[in-house]
Amino acid sequence: MNKGIKFYEYGGPEVLHYEDIEIGKPGKGEIRLKQTAIGLNFIDVYHRTGLYPQPSLPSGIGLEAAGIIEDIGPGVTDLHVGDRVAYGTGPIGSYVEHRIIPADKVILIPERISDEEAASVMLQGMTTEYLIRRTYCVQPGDFVLFHAAAGGVGSLAIQWLNALGATVIGTVGSEEKAEIAKTKGCHHTINYKRENFVERVKDITDGKGVNVVYDSVGKDTFEGSLDCLKVRGTMVTFGNASGPVPAIEPLILNAKGGIYLTRPSLAHYCGTHGEMTASANSLFQAISSGAIQIDVNQSYALYDARKAHEDLEARKTTGSTILVPQ
Ligand code: NDP
Repeated sequence: MNKGIKFYEYGGPEVLHYEDIEIGKPGKGEIRLKQTAIGLNFIDVYHRTGLYPQPSLPSGIGLEAAGIIEDIGPGVTDLHVGDRVAYGTGPIGSYVEHRIIPADKVILIPERISDEEAASVMLQGMTTEYLIRRTYCVQPGDFVLFHAAAGGVGSLAIQWLNALGATVIGTVGSEEKAEIAKTKGCHHTINYKRENFVERVKDITDGKGVNVVYDSVGKDTFEGSLDCLKVRGTMVTFGNASGPVPAIEPLILNAKGGIYLTRPSLAHYCGTHGEMTASANSLFQAISSGAIQIDVNQSYALYDARKAHEDLEARKTTGSTILVPQ
């Protein structure tokens, strides 16, 4: 029996259903995995609510997992039954016990990384890599503002930015999260529920502003984030946790100091097997050098995916979260 999560309509966590999912033999270029841990990501919420619509419903959900190869289709030569692998760029439908997936979507898990760690870090870690090394290449001495600093992507990014020699300012929604962000290497934390983060950033940078803002909160922080940038600074808006950002006039970028605005996705930076492998290797290197520690702070049974979604949306989670098939 193969159990997993499906949704038949867009909506709240209650639309997620734990049920039997059909599974067959892997086709050409495919492998079948027995999944041991599944990564929970905020993008799963966008898929479930329909903010990022699916081609059709019903749909599976989830883009990330780790597991053991249990069968191999024709034409797959570089992977073997028994290999431990992980993926973090989909395709959608990872909330399942067993799954068939194209072989070129998975990466071998290094020995020193557990399945749980791999399942939690692939998507958020490769995202961190492309954001801070490629979308804007952070330099030693840069001032960086990173929103939701105690979350999944945030916790990894804070550590990596610190290792790169940046001065890291992180926003968080509670005092408990501020402590977590500090232990991860945030030089300055701002509780944006209580404090005006634009004024705090101005104070911290002596009125100059930061080189780059990474904003995944979206609607609630976007405008303030533009005001935190120095002249010719870079605004990276990469998520919508509080809702999507409304349209803006290009002249605003001029008024704010000739700033750069970009809205990237993981697919733009890890869309090919080569790009994904390079990004994953860079991530594994950052882990093995000690620059990044993986924090799997929450674990739920796969059948409890509704509860996991509720907690993620209620801002109750910190670091990374996994779902575990029983
Ligand atoms: P997180 O663990 O960071 O959870 C989201 C966090 O956002 C919350 O914990 C909360 O932290 C903060 N937040 C602020 N406002 C709200 C709100 N109204 N509702 C809920 N949360 C809010 O999630 P992930 O690490 O999985 O993802 C972080 C962000 O990065 C998401 O927006 C995601 O979509 C985006 N992302 C984008 C990618 C890309 O390539 N473009 C790839 C991967 C992720 P606090 O309480 O501290 O404010």
